[in-house]
Amino acid sequence: MDDIFTQCREGNAVAVRLWLDNTENDLNQGDDHGFSPLHWACREGRTNVVDMLIMRGARINVMNRGDDTPLHLAASHGHREILGKLIQCKADTNASNEHGNTPLHYACFWGHDLVAEDLVNNGAQVSICNKYGETPVDKAKPHLRDHLKEMAEKQGQNLTKVPFKDTFWKGTTRTRPRNGTLNKHAGIDYKQLSFMVKVNENHSGELWKGRWQGTEIVVKVFHIRDWTTRKSRDFNEEYPKLRIFSHPNVLPMLGACQSPPAPHPVIITHWMPYGSLYNVLHEGTNFVVDQMQAVKFALDIACGMAFLHTLEPMIPRHYLNSKSVMIDEDMTARISMADVKFSFQCPGRMYSPAWIAPEGISLSFCFFIKPDFYIFSDFLPSVLFFL
Ligand code: ATP
Ligand code: MN
Repeated sequence: MDDIFTQCREGNAVAVRLWLDNTENDLNQGDDHGFSPLHWACREGRTNVVDMLIMRGARINVMNRGDDTPLHLAASHGHREILGKLIQCKADTNASNEHGNTPLHYACFWGHDLVAEDLVNNGAQVSICNKYGETPVDKAKPHLRDHLKEMAEKQGQNLTKVPFKDTFWKGTTRTRPRNGTLNKHAGIDYKQLSFMVKVNENHSGELWKGRWQGTEIVVKVFHIRDWTTRKSRDFNEEYPKLRIFSHPNVLPMLGACQSPPAPHPVIITHWMPYGSLYNVLHEGTNFVVDQMQAVKFALDIACGMAFLHTLEPMIPRHYLNSKSVMIDEDMTARISMADVKFSFQCPGRMYSPAWIAPEGISLSFCFFIKPDFYIFSDFLPSVLFFL
């Protein structure tokens, strides 16, 4: 069977939908050149596949190995409708690739006049130099060049050349390398886990930082009294449902096993460098979470929750709070499936308050998405969602 990259390239909408419906598939993975499924669909002008991928949480400003974003590919290939969709989803119109080229450089070079106009109308700069000192308009034929300059001038763009600047951090992310083993092995071999540092010990068990298959992970070793065959069977039934790789705002449980000698249930997750949202908000020293970042976190969480609500059956015993949301290296908030409680973990007992919906709290931000709601009381001003 063809892989997802080929399916997206060829526009096989039915096959793509089936693949997306499997929560074990990560739609933000990249192929050998770092192209995501969205890169391919944008490059080949597969509008319906682009719609599906965006709806399921594809990252818009993700980069391949050459630092091209999907917008670069849509622009180079003259797919205007897709370009419009990407821009609507806040694609960065001035993203530069490894050559310092922006999407506008390519639209100009390939003579996609309307695409170039759309880009300029959405903030693309006509005078940014690439590594070789060329601006987008340098790449355009005379008629397009004059037209774009005129448009830019009307918008108040400064037409003097902006020299190429190598930005260390571009505000975008690369696709994750495809890691077949990571996705395919639900049951892990306890002997392959290397434990490095104990991070925490509490009522529920121990948390260790470690490595597995070349990946930095955290290992949670649960302490459960009377580990019966019944509980063991429940565990094996419950954990695979938490292997949700298919949404960027959900942090999957990678796998699980039962450790010898007295078996303890063990689960593993990716190591998140910034820890939990709680750590970042209340214990973080490296950066300040300003209002924009708080709203971004809240929106990430809302997207993750909206996705989890689409699952049939719903995941039981999921208590959303700032300790069960992890912050990834690119500052994306991800709802941790490792913090979903198992049926054998003291049902009904809560150790920290979940985010709930008390009446009459003053609101600063409201997003109306669907009709249950969450108050994120860790944010000041608090951010309320109707999910
Ligand atoms: P509970 O046992 O109910 O889940 P908890 O979440 O406070 O309570 P742990 O799950 O042991 O306890 O987590 C302890 C700390 O370890 C968290 O506060 C967080 O900072 C850190 N941590 C947890 N998961 C990860 C992860 N995937 N990556 C990095 N740090 C993590
Ligand atoms: Mn936890």
